[in-house]
Amino acid sequence: MKNYKLVLLKGDGIGPEIVDEAVKVLDKAAEKFDFTVEYDEALLGGCAIDATGVPLPDETVAKCKAADSVLLGAVGGPKWDTLPGNLRPEAGLLGIRGALGLFANLRPAVIFEPLKSASPLRDDIIGKALDILVVRELTGGIYFGERGRKEVNGAPAAYDTEMYTVPEIERIARVAFEMAMNRNKKLTNVDKANVLESSRLWRETVIKVAAEYPEVELNHLYVDNCAMQLVRNPGQFDVIVTSNIFGDILSDEASMISGSIGMLASASLNENKAGLYEPIHGSAPDIAGQGIANPLATILSVAMMLKHSLDQPQAADAIENAVAKALETYRTPDIYTEGTKKVSCKEMGDIVCSLL
Ligand code: NAD
Repeated sequence: MKNYKLVLLKGDGIGPEIVDEAVKVLDKAAEKFDFTVEYDEALLGGCAIDATGVPLPDETVAKCKAADSVLLGAVGGPKWDTLPGNLRPEAGLLGIRGALGLFANLRPAVIFEPLKSASPLRDDIIGKALDILVVRELTGGIYFGERGRKEVNGAPAAYDTEMYTVPEIERIARVAFEMAMNRNKKLTNVDKANVLESSRLWRETVIKVAAEYPEVELNHLYVDNCAMQLVRNPGQFDVIVTSNIFGDILSDEASMISGSIGMLASASLNENKAGLYEPIHGSAPDIAGQGIANPLATILSVAMMLKHSLDQPQAADAIENAVAKALETYRTPDIYTEGTKKVSCKEMGDIVCSLL
């Protein structure tokens, strides 16, 4: 029987509550689909600062590197907000992403049919349901390029540099094509090739990689047009691949189409596909400890882990179906609407388990 070693980074605020429910669901899926999971825990963020003085202890990095995959709750909170930048919980988050070499960020923007009314878009624009996957390059481009300040014609000035190498573009393009192969075989490349030289190299390289995936239909959009199309006709998209900065903006836009932050999962993958999985929301200190957090984004992050890192796609589908079924009747307070039944974080975990 296949056994997987997972590291849990529960973090701060609602992190421990939502990770506990996701683990419960994963254990149920393991039982049903005949595999086993061994858990280890490590400290990240505020809880790590309290225990060790730093947001990312060396021991956490070592444990995560040795694991088959990592599940993260969320980090941060007002208690640590006055610390200097390099000692804040969020520095631990950036540190672990760097240490694990996570270059591909996957952000699905999914609207489950029963939650359509939570979307800020009209029903006729959304259609029946929505399922877009944004693949964002995470370790290159302008966020990591040369930057500085200088004087230009006697005036103070600043600059940042967007640069990509061909191997960086090839590897993110391959991740996106692979994702498209497992979905509806449609990939939209997003760049600004009408203006930026780095985008022209990006597009040329994506087109070259496309030759390896003849079954995938590839099209190209400029980033400004893509931002518009996402709210005009989101149903046209399957997988979107783009650079770090464009992906930062577009993945937030795409996820807000779903209207419910407690529902959105994410994955960050490295070369060996181990990956770190986490909900996109933060540690929600305003509701921590009250038992009312929505655990579904974390549960759906586990489904992504089963699909992309642990090679258990059937277990992943079963979890996604159980979540969709649960939403027909049960809601945590953040997504509650009249006519549905309000449940706690723990009850939602139990309901998903029972529907699995
Ligand atoms: P947040 O996502 O934590 O909360 C925003 C709002 O959404 C709050 O009202 C919160 O109660 C609600 N919310 C979020 N997740 C929810 C859930 N699962 N169920 C029900 N309601 C939910 O964002 P914020 O308030 O801007 O940040 C709080 C802390 O989290 C800060 O310290 C921030 O730095 C940190 N943060 C961490 C991550 C991460 O760990 N990846 C991401 C974003 C923010």
